[in-house]
Amino acid sequence: MDRDKILLTPGPLTTTLRTKLAMLKDWGSWDADFNAVTARVRKSLVDIIHGQDSHVVVPLQGSGTFSVEAAVATVVPRDGHVLVLDNGAYCKRAARLTSLMGRRCSVLDFGDHEPVSAAALDAKLKADASITHVLMIHCETGAGVLNPLQAVADVSAAHGKGLIVDAMSSFAALPIDARTTRFDALVAASGKCLEGVPGMGFVFIRKAILDSCAGQSQSLAMDLHDQYVYMEKTTQWRFTPPTHVVVALAEAIAQFEEDGGQPARLARYQQNYETLVGGMAALGFKPFLDAGVQAPIIVTFHAPADERYDFKTFYAAARARGFVLYPGKLTQVETFRVGCIGAIGKVEMEQAVHAVALALQDMGIASGAPAA
Ligand SMILES: *Cc1c(COP(=O)(O)O)cnc(C)c1O
Repeated sequence: MDRDKILLTPGPLTTTLRTKLAMLKDWGSWDADFNAVTARVRKSLVDIIHGQDSHVVVPLQGSGTFSVEAAVATVVPRDGHVLVLDNGAYCKRAARLTSLMGRRCSVLDFGDHEPVSAAALDAKLKADASITHVLMIHCETGAGVLNPLQAVADVSAAHGKGLIVDAMSSFAALPIDARTTRFDALVAASGKCLEGVPGMGFVFIRKAILDSCAGQSQSLAMDLHDQYVYMEKTTQWRFTPPTHVVVALAEAIAQFEEDGGQPARLARYQQNYETLVGGMAALGFKPFLDAGVQAPIIVTFHAPADERYDFKTFYAAARARGFVLYPGKLTQVETFRVGCIGAIGKVEMEQAVHAVALALQDMGIASGAPAA
């Protein structure tokens, strides 16, 4: 049947029909109507973090990683030194792009099953005065761990260090308040918890550091300071905007606001998470993380111990029932991931669990339980 599959992934996500329908029009990049949409989206984004007094937002074409890379290159001086708090695959990607941007990069290692530690950061900053910026991932989408944003922001501020936050998979779902949490840059994207379509990222930059960012980026296309200055002056994007993505995001944000904003989004995802984990537990599956460190965004499950299990077959069997799962991203143990985000609710999560049960049945596996 020609029906969209439900995407239980960290993005792209399932979107509403209303969001999809917003894309059925062509827009000119010079057109005042389109530029008014961009302005409205930017205002709404700043409102979500209560950043009207402290931050601006700069949109950028491309997937989320483009904006992380642009943020590092724009905010960190060329002779800066970035410390990445590493507890997973997205942290490793952030460290790699920091080095590729020519910035000195150090890594503070943590296990992928635990949050990063603000106390360890404090000790590291005391020991190495050359560090200028701290880079953290709010929700490490690799395993699904929630990292302590407020504590890391407080320690970074106490040492007078800049803080860059990749809040890609948490923004708009988990609370982030620029009035009480100090960061120089915070990065998210259209196709995550705002439930837009993928194609643009955006970076909140602290007004107090904005001027100092001029000329720091070695990239033309990814220079967020330049993009900001041009947008303020002309109301336009510097280069061809992802017009359909922008209007879809405007429509997705309108629904986000009508639904009750961030608290309502978090409540829905929390219910999705609980429905998923409860249903999967009944099938024998065990989450990789302790519940106490888990964000209600994406859940990593241990693969079943049964020797008949193989992810590709499992994936195909769930997909045949209309649900798209996601492979694990851990190197040590075999896992798979199930997202709780997107325009889906409890009913879809119950159906997803049922699809998993039927997939196990197809494979002749009696229980999802992992090896003891
Ligand atoms: C999704 C995501 C990104 C961006 O990934 P893209 O594939 O470039 O969109 C970056 N960081 C985190 C934590 C993410 O969840």
